[in-house]
This record gives sequence, C-alpha cells and structure tokens, in this order.
Amino acid sequence: MEASIMDGSGRRCGAVSGVTTVKNPISLARLVMEKSPHSYLAFSGAEEFAKHHGVEMVDNDYFITEDNVGMLKLAKEADSILFDYRIPTIGESCSSVVDTPPLQMNGLPISVYAPETVGCVVVDSQGQCAAATSTGGLMNKKVGRIGDSPLIGAGTYACDLCGVSCTGEGEAIIRGTLARDVAALMEYKGLGLQEAVEYVIEKRLDGGGKAGLIAVSSKGEVSYGFNSVGMFRGCATEDGFMEVGIWE
Ligand code: ASP
Repeated sequence: MEASIMDGSGRRCGAVSGVTTVKNPISLARLVMEKSPHSYLAFSGAEEFAKHHGVEMVDNDYFITEDNVGMLKLAKEADSILFDYRIPTIGESCSSVVDTPPLQMNGLPISVYAPETVGCVVVDSQGQCAAATSTGGLMNKKVGRIGDSPLIGAGTYACDLCGVSCTGEGEAIIRGTLARDVAALMEYKGLGLQEAVEYVIEKRLDGGGKAGLIAVSSKGEVSYGFNSVGMFRGCATEDGFMEVGIWE
C-alpha cells in the first residue's frame, strides 16, 4: 500500500509506500509530514517508523479478502496489470464474475479496474486546501512497483491555490504530473480551477492511460475530471449539501 498527504498552507507533505502491515497508510503519511524530517519513507523504513510511532499495525492477512484473491487470480490468468473486471454482486463468488453478463447502471457497464484508491481534497473556511490519496495500487502490479498515489505532484498536490488527488493508471498520471499541473496552470497561466482540470485531463493524458482527479480551490470551488467511463466520487459541504456520482 502507499499513500501521501499534502497541506497546502506551507506546502508540507508526507508520503509512504511499500507498507504491508500498517492499518491506515494515510495516517502514517501524515506522521511522516508531522514527525519526521523527511517527505517520503518506503518499505522497511516506513514500517520501522510506523512501529516507532505506535501506529496501528495488523497482520498482512487483514488486507487479504476472498474477493481480491479471486480478482488477482483472474488478473494473473489474463497476464494483465490493469485488469478490467466487473463488480461482483454481494455473495457472488469472484470466479463466477467472468461468466455473468456485465452489471449495468443507466445502460452502461459497471466496470472498475482499481477500486482500492481513496482520494480526498478539502478546503476550509479560510481557503486553506489539503489533499490526500491512499491506495493498494493496481491489481497484479509487480513487486516494488510504485504508483502515482504517494508521489507529490503526480497523484497528490496542494498549495495556496488548490488541492488535487488523482486516481487511475498511475504510470499515466506520473507521466502527466497531473496534480501539480492543475496547480501550475492556475499559478502560471491564471486559469480557474475548472479550466485547469479540463486542460489537464484533455492535454496531459494524451500519451494514453485512463485517469481522473478531484480538486478544490482556495475560493471554495469543487471540480473533477476523468477520461475513463466513470469515476466514483462524492462531495459534501458544511451547509449540508451532498452529492455522489459515477458517470459524467
Ligand atoms: N493510481 C493508482 C495506482 O496506479 C491506482 C488507482 O487509482 O486506483 O497505483
């Protein structure tokens, strides 16, 4: 698992990758930001740091679910990293997923390839932005592979203008430095949040790859964009507004 967090005020950040027994990698990323002299710890060093700070640890078995074992098996059989699979209905075994017709919603197939990433962007009443991203990475990734989620500027970025968190094919997000580019367009080109998000999705993923992002600005604007069929997302404001979405 890997995660990163960035506090836009002062551009403080922390990231971890290669952790296998830390229950909440995002909390560890926050500790790296708050309690270490570094920005990024990985593998045994990250686990060591977690133990030292009394972070909740679990057996690696805790993360192994029957569903994911089934998905991994299918991905290995297909020799695929970005394994495009259907969401099994509750109680349905994974092995039967391949044989059943695609689940549909509003006439579109529900198809997800990396359901493990959670991103969050926030802006407070003072216009201070923060962003965080946590993931198990891509199904059937190689041992040692690091994706975009722990990389500040790629999967996560926050500054005095905005907070951005990305999801999707990490390699494409890294190549496009998606999160930082949203901020850079606002900073250097004076674009608004929505315009910057649209620009990045359209122009920075031109090398191929499906990805999406969620973003907030210091003015309190909320935006998102993706070039995939859908992206699970939600938004909540202090005055009670709530919205969730999957498709465009
Ligand atoms: N971006 C993540 C990765 O490449 C996967 C995801 O967003 O679901 O590791």
